[in-house]
Order: sequence, then C-alpha cells, then structure tokens
Amino acid sequence: MIFGSENAVPKYSVISMLDISYELTRTKKEKPDQTKLGFGRYFTDHMFIMNYTEGKGWHSPRILPFQNISLSPAAMVFHYAQEMFEGLKAYRTPAGEVQLFRPEKNIERMNNTNERMCIPKVNPDDALQAIRAIVDVDRDWVPSVEGASLYIRPFIIASDPYLGVRISNEYLFIIILSPVGAYYEQGINPVKIYVENEYVRAVKGGTGFAKVGGNYAASLIGQKKAEEMGYAQVLWLDGIHRKYIDEVGAMNVFFVIDGKVVTPSLDDGNILPGVTRASCIELLKSWGIPVSERRISIDEVVEAHKSGKLSEAFGTGTAAVISPIGELNHGEKMILNDGKIGPISQRLYDNLTGIQWGKLEDPFGWTCKV
Ligand SMILES: *Cc1c(COP(=O)(O)O)cnc(C)c1O
Repeated sequence: MIFGSENAVPKYSVISMLDISYELTRTKKEKPDQTKLGFGRYFTDHMFIMNYTEGKGWHSPRILPFQNISLSPAAMVFHYAQEMFEGLKAYRTPAGEVQLFRPEKNIERMNNTNERMCIPKVNPDDALQAIRAIVDVDRDWVPSVEGASLYIRPFIIASDPYLGVRISNEYLFIIILSPVGAYYEQGINPVKIYVENEYVRAVKGGTGFAKVGGNYAASLIGQKKAEEMGYAQVLWLDGIHRKYIDEVGAMNVFFVIDGKVVTPSLDDGNILPGVTRASCIELLKSWGIPVSERRISIDEVVEAHKSGKLSEAFGTGTAAVISPIGELNHGEKMILNDGKIGPISQRLYDNLTGIQWGKLEDPFGWTCKV
C-alpha cells in the first residue's frame, strides 16, 4: 500500500503552491536616507499575511499595503505568548540584483520552532514563495549602500480570542520588511561582554533552541543589568550547572583556543541553531581550520585566557554577522586580543559578507536570486 494511514496525514497545510492575492498601495512612502537607517525603524510599503484556521489549514495568502492589524484583546498571543519569529536578509549585489542567503535554513528552523510551540507548520515551499513574493514587491527597498540590507521578519502569532490556556485554533503568519543600515558604521568594533551569573536565558527542556519572543522577554533584565554596568551584551551560562557557555546576547558564540575553534554544541537544546553559526562552521572546515562543537565551561575560557591560549572570541548572527569580543567580565576583566578583531574573525567576516552581498563567488550555493 502506498498510502498507509500515517502517510495519508498531510504533514503541512493542503496548499502546495500559494495563490497569493495582491492589493498594492497607490501611495508609496518616501524612502529614508540609506546612510541613516539604523535597525528596524523603517518599514516598506507592503506586508504578507496568511491565516490559519483549525480544520481549514493555512489559507488566504495575500500581500497588502503595510498597515496595522486588528486583533481581539483576548487574542491568545497577548496572554500566553504562543508565537514565533524568524530573521533573515535580502542583499543588493554589485550588479543590482537582489539575493537571499540560505532562506531554506530559516524555514527549516521556523518549523522546528513551530513544533516546540504547538504552532501548525508551514509548507516550506509556501514559506519560501511568500518570502520571495514580498521581497519582489518591495525590491526597490533593498538598499545599495555599503553594508546595508533589507531585513526580513516572518512571524506567527496565536490570534484565537480565548482566555483559557490551550493551543490556539487560529494564527496569523505575517512577513514585514525593514531596510537596515551597516551594523558597524565606523568599522568593526569589538564589544564588552558581561558574564551573567544570576539570570539564565534557557534551560534543557525549555525553548532555548526555538526562536520565540518569550526567550527575549526573559533576557531583558540581564541585558539591562549589563548595560548599567557599561557592557554591551551578556554571555549566558547554562541554567543547570551555571557553568557551560550558551550564547552571547542574541548571538551564537565562538572561541579560538590554542589555534582551534570551539563553539557550544546544540545537543542540550538550549542554544539557538544560528544560520550564521552553521555557515561559519562550514567555512572553517573548508579552510582546514579545526572546529569542534562541544560543551565549553567558563572556567576553561578563564584558564585559556590566563595561559595566553585564548586568542579570539566572537558572536555570530544575521544582524552583525561577526561581532568580536574585546573584553569578557567574569568577576575579573579579561581583555582579548588587545581589544581588537582577530584574524579568524576577520576572515569569516570578509568571506560571509562577500558571499551575502554577491561580491565573492558562492562556492556553497548559499545564495538565491529573487
Ligand atoms: C536569531 C538568533 C541567533 C542567530 O541566528 P542567525 O540565524 O545566525 O541569525 C542566535 N541566538 C539567538 C538567541 C537568536 O535568536
């Protein structure tokens, strides 16, 4: 039998090719100055939206003028935080084309998050089609100045108006776009990081591997504390032993110890599997630089620093790509590589940004044109 009872259950919604309806704006906004974009302050002319209704699946995909949405104050997302989000970028190449970087990885992660949050999955082909369609409609918003890009924010919220605690029966899948500036306007500046010893971000069995607003809400207090002490971000330790390194702020973290690159493994489920993280690992391997994914304790990092073996540390994420760490404070201050960017961080930064903006050849097939 080809269709066993299990195989007969569709894994995704029944739509396989989205029939997107378009309502385009007549009054396009004036575009902001590309050299003063900052992050997440401006939004493009349109948005993508699609509904989910229990029994019907995902339906009514549409592109509309960017606008406010109307929700019941009882919508479940406001009360019990059943929601998820993603983040990726569209880049303008020197030839003026628009390209995405590994969008299928974000879509795969979106469905892993959905599974953890009991949100219905979205057919990966549909999600990719939706991303491409909205970027295509607003393609003149993809900036062309050095280092700027169009940030893509897909997200899903539980919209069922009900105050009981259960899984929502209704959702909205929305994609909004925001032109963003170069992360480092005055060249790459290594950041000062505070090792957080009181609060935790994630714990085994929790939602650390899922990209959800709740993780961020829980992390704000640690971020506030670090900022008050003059630090840019927090280095999070694991919630059980308060010993193993998880992440830095909203980035994955790498260390170069004794010429070898190490990054926390994803095995415990408290680390967000970054697309930038995965790409750095693949690049390092392709260059023959040893890289291992394993548990790293803060004590090992302190020891390596004391013995002069800790040469570089850096965060990775879509926003900054590579964020070198110039200082780590774990009771005492550790200055890394004289507070300057190290050679491995710089090489990763140059290669990743080169591929993303289409200035270097893409030997891995990571980019796709819109
Ligand atoms: C999104 C995110 C990252 C980075 O992921 P990328 O796919 O590289 O952008 C790292 N940590 C957290 C907590 C995140 O939310």
